[in-house]
Amino acid sequence: MRIKGSDPLKVDSDPNVGLQVSPFVQAGGLSRSHLPPMPFSTDTPRSRLGRVERFETIVIGGGQAGLAVGHYLASDDADFVILDGASRIGDSWRRRWDSLRLFTPAAYSGLPGMPFPAPPAHLPDKDEVADYLTRYAERFDLPVRLDAAVRSLDHDGGRFVVHAGDHVYESDQVVVATGPFQRPKVPAISRRLAPEIHQVHSSDYHNPLELPDGPVLLVGAGNSGAQIALELARSRKVWLAGRSPGYLPRRLFGRDLFDWVWPVMNRATTDSVLGRHIRKRSQRGDQRIGIPEGALAGAGINRVGRLVDERGGLPVCGDIAIEPSTIVWCTGFDPDYRWIRLPVLNERGKPSHRRGISSAVNGLYFSGLRFQYRLSSSLIGGVGEDAVFVAAQIGRRASIAESGRTPTTSIAVRA
Ligand SMILES: Cc1cc2nc3c(=O)[nH]c(=O)nc-3n(C[C@H](O)[C@H](O)[C@H](O)COP(=O)(O)OP(=O)(O)OC[C@H]3O[C@@H](n4cnc5c(N)ncnc54)[C@H](O)[C@@H]3O)c2cc1C
Repeated sequence: MRIKGSDPLKVDSDPNVGLQVSPFVQAGGLSRSHLPPMPFSTDTPRSRLGRVERFETIVIGGGQAGLAVGHYLASDDADFVILDGASRIGDSWRRRWDSLRLFTPAAYSGLPGMPFPAPPAHLPDKDEVADYLTRYAERFDLPVRLDAAVRSLDHDGGRFVVHAGDHVYESDQVVVATGPFQRPKVPAISRRLAPEIHQVHSSDYHNPLELPDGPVLLVGAGNSGAQIALELARSRKVWLAGRSPGYLPRRLFGRDLFDWVWPVMNRATTDSVLGRHIRKRSQRGDQRIGIPEGALAGAGINRVGRLVDERGGLPVCGDIAIEPSTIVWCTGFDPDYRWIRLPVLNERGKPSHRRGISSAVNGLYFSGLRFQYRLSSSLIGGVGEDAVFVAAQIGRRASIAESGRTPTTSIAVRA
């Protein structure tokens, strides 16, 4: 198999790839022998690894979720730093495919304190979003350190210990804001397909010119799959495989769809009846926005059933064997928390938390999780509502510590 993809790439159903459930949670106790191997020894004296810097709070990830928390920490005059592995703020957007535009109009794509600088109905392209994030960090003078990929997050019994490059950082609080879309998901069947078929995940697709000549099969008929299919169908034969996740019109009763749905998304919390209903529905995939089945047919895209099997190295979709020269996997993502060496994940491999406050480790927080508290939590315009709550919890914890009422420096693994 030749998948040009980010490392690490998660191939579904492969027990050897993608450790998602914390071994600690499975084993029911904190024992280093249960932890996955590290790229270096945490027993190496810190003095030999470089400078140890201390902050009250470390935010890991400087995308929209980390910057929004940073905005509130800065307005609180908190002592903090934001660490990001990329070389430029906004790179997670810059890396996405060239023609990508937001499905949320500018009016609903602003971070706290700085509206998106475009007419309300404008659908920003991915580079406009990246530049907006850069300007946001500049405007609020946020202390972002770039090229600082965090390799491990641990706790030494007194403080959190963060290893990034050859730097060691320590803090009383940590906010994990590394994004919900980190590890491309690719079905295990990809490994059985003929090596002549070029395979790429949507996260590594940029434009039609980068693909080998010939017909393309897109697997996954959600927003990404449909958008890329429409782009490729202008110049070549395209199949789009998968169930339709349903469709919402771009405009409704003369207004943008988000003029109607945003108030609901922003208000319906995940513990409300409506929130629970929509969250459950989303397990079947997010509805496509503005791309009905008719538009796909009109563009000459061949709709086929789910990719269920392989025959002679060819993908079988429904009951048809297809001969593409390229497959683009539009099959989604998982978060990546393998670098967190603390028992933060539940049995489903997701952070156990309440409104972004870790249920397992005192002083640990999350920002930007999908459905963190609202249906809009992982969207640009929604992340601020959770960020203000998380920053307030951090402020409260810090002032309790200052008053000497509760030590903040001990790890407390909650039952
Ligand atoms: C194709 C696509 C289209 C989308 N369209 C929209 C849209 O129209 N509107 C909308 O509101 N939302 C949209 N989203 C959802 C969401 O807004 C984006 O995924 C957004 O990038 C999430 O922001 P984030 O800050 O949570 O994560 P990211 O943008 O992924 O940022 C995470 C940051 O953490 C850093 N990082 C990761 N791991 C580490 C580490 N170990 N150490 C240090 N740094 C690390 C990364 O370098 C990155 O800068 C879209 C998502 C996708 C995938």
